[in-house]
Amino acid sequence: MMLRAFLSLVVAAQALCGCASPRATWVREGFKTSCPARPAFAEAASANAAGLDDLVWSPWGTEETGWRVYAPAVAAEIRTRCGPESQAFAATLARWQARRALAADGRMSAAAFERMKTGWQARRSFVALRAQGVCPDPPAELMHVGEDEPLMAKDVLVTPPTLKALRALRTRAARELKLKPGDPTLAVFSAFRSPDYDAERCAREQNCNGVVRALCSAHRTGAALDLTLGAAPGYEVDSSAGPNRLHQTQTPAYRWLVAHARRYGFANYVFEPWHWEWGPAS
Ligand SMILES: [Zn+2]
Repeated sequence: MMLRAFLSLVVAAQALCGCASPRATWVREGFKTSCPARPAFAEAASANAAGLDDLVWSPWGTEETGWRVYAPAVAAEIRTRCGPESQAFAATLARWQARRALAADGRMSAAAFERMKTGWQARRSFVALRAQGVCPDPPAELMHVGEDEPLMAKDVLVTPPTLKALRALRTRAARELKLKPGDPTLAVFSAFRSPDYDAERCAREQNCNGVVRALCSAHRTGAALDLTLGAAPGYEVDSSAGPNRLHQTQTPAYRWLVAHARRYGFANYVFEPWHWEWGPAS
């Protein structure tokens, strides 16, 4: 109760002075470039900096290079706004590792990422169902999102609670990201997809996303949304190519989602910056 009252005072003071919260500044401007030196983590910071663009690893089963694409999600996880190459970032990562009985070296390793990934995936109720061998039936009720709603690229179908959460999220995101009318940022470009449609598309395009889409896609639940985050030149909004995902995760809109979407019940499939699933609060 005391903490809540204190936080309310902080928010009120920020509103009075017109200053942005550290989180809002991070969303708008990205990582802080001046953070306190932590010489004990100088080597870890150097290793992290080199790995940002050079680490060769397979965090989702296929080989990737660099971890810069995941830096915003990692920073939100360990709770820092200092740049991923900084000593302060390494020191914060070490504290996060220590709390989980991992080697507290401050290095962004595949093992540390795997631990984060476990937590991120656990927030997706669809993943939990799939782990039990369950493929959920399509929902009994779906609602159309109006084509005239702001930020909506086209008519889509979602479950009623997903629509309620989406509207609340988009209202605040539009205000804080200062999106102009007609700006496609965070428009939903795909939501409910029937199992039949996915199977047909899989066969037609010979692109089954490792047959996941054909067998049991999260989009059959009506609670999975693909949100527009733009695209790197030459790529589609849902291209999982490295340069495209990197482009998307460096945007203020993605940082906003990472910072706020969980409050509205949305969890990210971190491999796909655009894919967010609504579920009961975790
Ligand atoms: Zn999706």
